[in-house]
Amino acid sequence: MITLDVGTLRTQNDEFRRLIEKHQWSGLTPLKSSGVCPECCGSSRHGHRPGCAIAAALDALDDDE
Ligand SMILES: [Zn+2]
Repeated sequence: MITLDVGTLRTQNDEFRRLIEKHQWSGLTPLKSSGVCPECCGSSRHGHRPGCAIAAALDALDDDE
């Protein structure tokens, strides 16, 4: 059985959020584009498309605070 204290979970949560926020617009784009989501192809300017798993993951992580 795995036991993790709250502090450990919070640290992991912060790390996941940092990684997702860093990479959420890392999809392939033309050179001067501001970036797209690799999951839903939504642009960073207009946001994620409905149902995007990355947006959902960020929302779930944000709920912790
Ligand atoms: Zn997305």
